[in-house]
Amino acid sequence: TLSGDDTQSSNMKVVVRVRPPNASEREDQKSRTIVRVMDEHLLVFDPKDDDASPNYYHGKRKRRDLLTRKNKDLKFIFDRVFNDMASQQEVYESTTKVIVDGVLNGYNCSVFAYGATGAGKTFTMLGAPQNPGVIFLTMMDLYQRIDQMQSEKICDVAVSYLEVYNETIRDLLVPSGTLAVREDPQKGVVVSGLTLHKPRSAEELIHMLEYGNQNRTQHPTDANATSSRSHAVFQVFVRQKDRTANISSDVRVAKMSLIDLAGSERATVTTNRGARFREGANINKSLLALGNCINALADPQYKGHIPYRNSKLTRLLKDSLGGNCRTVMIAAVSPSSLSYEDTHNTLKYANRAKNI
Ligand code: ADP
Ligand code: MG
Repeated sequence: TLSGDDTQSSNMKVVVRVRPPNASEREDQKSRTIVRVMDEHLLVFDPKDDDASPNYYHGKRKRRDLLTRKNKDLKFIFDRVFNDMASQQEVYESTTKVIVDGVLNGYNCSVFAYGATGAGKTFTMLGAPQNPGVIFLTMMDLYQRIDQMQSEKICDVAVSYLEVYNETIRDLLVPSGTLAVREDPQKGVVVSGLTLHKPRSAEELIHMLEYGNQNRTQHPTDANATSSRSHAVFQVFVRQKDRTANISSDVRVAKMSLIDLAGSERATVTTNRGARFREGANINKSLLALGNCINALADPQYKGHIPYRNSKLTRLLKDSLGGNCRTVMIAAVSPSSLSYEDTHNTLKYANRAKNI
């Protein structure tokens, strides 16, 4: 069974990153590796011939494991698949680097990290201070590119970092109350009162990201699931003007949104084309709405309006998703059978997004 085809979409690039197994996955004798990266594009979920998986020979297999051994053997093709050896730089270079060109050419762009809690979203977007992720690498690249065109263009770059939690927007860099999102006929989507910043060095940027991330809301009753229900949205605003042009000439403005989404574990996915995400007791409204916008954008038969208005996150990203916008989705997954359903759902979601 081949889930999906190899037609590459023009506006959305979808990649999957498999993280290394963590200590508890490695030590759990009942667990096995259920994601196999075959090459740069092909991944097999729950492979049939799983004797290559590291935990296979570890002791006796328990009954529970026998029951979960479904061996779906699903092949998925993506624009790129990263195994657990992939470096932050590699992930950046084959996902987001091309999008930096898009922003400099005046297109709004977005990069999403999607996946269950613990799958590696924050590691990919933010990283660790000694091993910074996509956001940091994007900024370094952007500054360098702007430096190179300094003789022809005047560029202005500013960043913001906000959180969507429980359908409210808060500034992560200068904590304040709830912020409102509105649409401006000239400027597009704006968040009133959101602070803009101009970090002057790599260190300052790293501190800013760390500080902002610490301000993310943690779910009060679920201390282990750090910020699992919060969407962190880092935005870069780029304003360019020709040095030689006169005052009235065009100013090119574009923004790039880099989003560490809430954990997808509560969003259930239906497999049928055109099916909707179902609202359950605890499903994150913004994640659900994003899924529905992606479904609508991906469905060639869909004729109605894209339902951007259904959540705070989709209202915020209305001018950064679909149309001329360049989008990258990085789906993060665990390699272990302990996350069997989450990984399966994430792969199905990512596979659907390829159609955009
Ligand atoms: P999420 O944000 O999706 O909940 P995290 O990014 O916090 O998940 O990742 C969970 C744990 O796994 C963290 O301790 C993180 O450092 C580690 N991790 C995730 N991805 C990788 C990776 N590619 N390489 C090494 N460690 C990783
Ligand atoms: Mg996280």
